[in-house]
Amino acid sequence: MLRLSTLFLRTLRDDPADAEVPSHKLLVRAGYVRRVAPGIYSWLPLGMIVLANVEAVVREEMNAIGAQEVHFPALVPREIFEESGRWTDYGDTLFRLADRKGADYLLAPTHEELFTLLVKGEYSSYKDYPLALYQIQTKYRDEARPRAGILRGREFVMKDSYSFDLDDEGLARSYRAHRDAYERIFTRLGFDYRIVFAVSGAMGGSASEEFLAPAPAGEDTFVQCANCDYAANTEAVEIAAPPADDPARHPAARVYDTPDTPTIEALVACFNALGHDRVYTAADTLKNVVLRTRAPGTRHWELLVVGVPGDRDVDLKRLAGQLEPVEVEQAGPDDLAREPRLVKGYIGPQQLAEWKVRYLVDPLVAEGSAWITGANEEGRHASDVVRGRDFTPDGEIGAVEIRDGDRCARCGGVLEIARGIELGHVFQLGRKYATAFGLTALGPDGKPVTITMGSYGVGVTRAVAALAEQTYDDKGLCWPRAVAPADVHIVATGKDDRVFTEAERIATGLEAVGVRVLYDDRRSVSAGVKFGDAELLGVPTIVVVGRGLADGVVELRDRRTGEREDVPVVDAVGRVAAACR
Ligand code: ATP
Ligand code: MG
Repeated sequence: MLRLSTLFLRTLRDDPADAEVPSHKLLVRAGYVRRVAPGIYSWLPLGMIVLANVEAVVREEMNAIGAQEVHFPALVPREIFEESGRWTDYGDTLFRLADRKGADYLLAPTHEELFTLLVKGEYSSYKDYPLALYQIQTKYRDEARPRAGILRGREFVMKDSYSFDLDDEGLARSYRAHRDAYERIFTRLGFDYRIVFAVSGAMGGSASEEFLAPAPAGEDTFVQCANCDYAANTEAVEIAAPPADDPARHPAARVYDTPDTPTIEALVACFNALGHDRVYTAADTLKNVVLRTRAPGTRHWELLVVGVPGDRDVDLKRLAGQLEPVEVEQAGPDDLAREPRLVKGYIGPQQLAEWKVRYLVDPLVAEGSAWITGANEEGRHASDVVRGRDFTPDGEIGAVEIRDGDRCARCGGVLEIARGIELGHVFQLGRKYATAFGLTALGPDGKPVTITMGSYGVGVTRAVAALAEQTYDDKGLCWPRAVAPADVHIVATGKDDRVFTEAERIATGLEAVGVRVLYDDRRSVSAGVKFGDAELLGVPTIVVVGRGLADGVVELRDRRTGEREDVPVVDAVGRVAAACR
């Protein structure tokens, strides 16, 4: 039994100055965590109980699919990360340090290398597989903006697991098992969650899905269809594109003098002033954005031009998600200087193929569609420039910034944009690490088979904060029972000894039938403060033992709904235990 008279807990009346999101404010005020440095927190007794409850659910479901628990060190020698290339690739996010002899170490941000090496050291035959291993362990990432409290720590706890299979079918099975386990975990924890595609079908690649908890404080933007169950993060989303048209339907392309029209706005105004019997909008223009890309392991940047309708912006994050591991960024003046035929503000796709400049279009620039676009000359634009007749792009890529009202590529329904917190990620990693570390199994024919891996993560500390985000109200935290630090919070009010004797009897009785009790047995604290604390701490059932005793009743409150009910003190244990079930 937790007794507030001795529990190591001091609640705060005011929000901490550095807190921006509700979970951060409330977890600090309610004494679950304390900040040590940006993104670095201590967990206090109540916080530890909630964290342990989350861990227990994760562990049970991992064990249930046959994954076996291991534990790796957080402190890892540099050489291991050199071998995978991540000592360099991870950049500033990696915490690096040296030992007394000057040897380099890091604090691991994830453990792909160690899992792969461990299995390589122990297993050698095809008969050993399949295998799934997991750990619940502390990770270190020097996040650029650790602003959201426990949601984005620089030190945080993750459950990470890896599956090891001999072939793609095996990987698909392991992936499915993990995905199903994650559904059970997040359901049991009491989350409202969505499973969203993290890579788009169009780009091929292996399965990758994220589990997101919709919440205003979420740092991830995702898109969901109002009509079907399609949901994807904004990097992976595919939107409906217009059907292909017949290029021959359009009149021949024609070049106009359009002096001083480097912006879409000026261009549209100029075309509307030409006196054609129609009104042009930005959507009639084709905007060509100059970017640059760099393949992994090379130092050379290449130009890439991306074409989107002029009323839309290019979403660089979405492009980056699809081009990965190739890097992409806005081209600078130096890049443009190397290709002077690209006239800023007047770029058109007509000669790009001839100039060997890579050109991709958003699917909204459909086959056979006609556009007003640059004529590749200062002060000139062309009309009726038709895809498939006047230019042929090197390919398509989902490049436009998604907006509310875009249509679902699956069913044509309206897409909505929402914010969410990434709770977990299931991902077919494939043979990347197995190849880098030479993880193979000797097949039945004596030939080596490269193992294929799946990677699966759950943010355990983040889950605590995400649950707080999804359940809090204006009075405080409001835990789902599965993770709450107790089932029932008993508040004894007043100075009457009988109150405390009765409350003690009920608390002991409840504990005897397996109900987890937090008992506010403080003698010199006012009823108002006690009620305030009960609401702030967020235990799902509250029992008030006080004035009602004179009438033979105690009050039973539901923290979430606020419903109150008097129950006879003689039945209190049974009634409260039933409410906690
Ligand atoms: P994010 O996009 O939020 O940075 P990520 O893609 O880097 O997450 P993974 O590397 O897939 O995350 O890690 C697996 C899980 O660990 C995530 O789904 C998330 O729940 C959790 N996680 C990642 N970074 C943090 C962090 N800085 N603090 C707390 N939890 C985190
Ligand atoms: Mg991250």
